[in-house]
Amino acid sequence: MPTYDYQCKQCGYTFETFQSMKDDALKVCPKCGQESLKRLIGTGAGVIFQGNGFYETDYKKKAPEKAASSEPS
Ligand SMILES: [Zn+2]
Repeated sequence: MPTYDYQCKQCGYTFETFQSMKDDALKVCPKCGQESLKRLIGTGAGVIFQGNGFYETDYKKKAPEKAASSEPS
């Protein structure tokens, strides 16, 4: 059974709950009672929002360095 993280956009309350896949997403915040819950992606064990690797590959800029020194012999 996966755990889901919810965060209330209203009061900022964050909590984790067990739900089965086919359950509807929760809406009502147990703290403030507003329908402003947002389900966070990621299954309990930390958030998987770290896409660091992507940047670095973009940065790979290989400028061709030509040794423009002509040696007269
Ligand atoms: Zn709330």
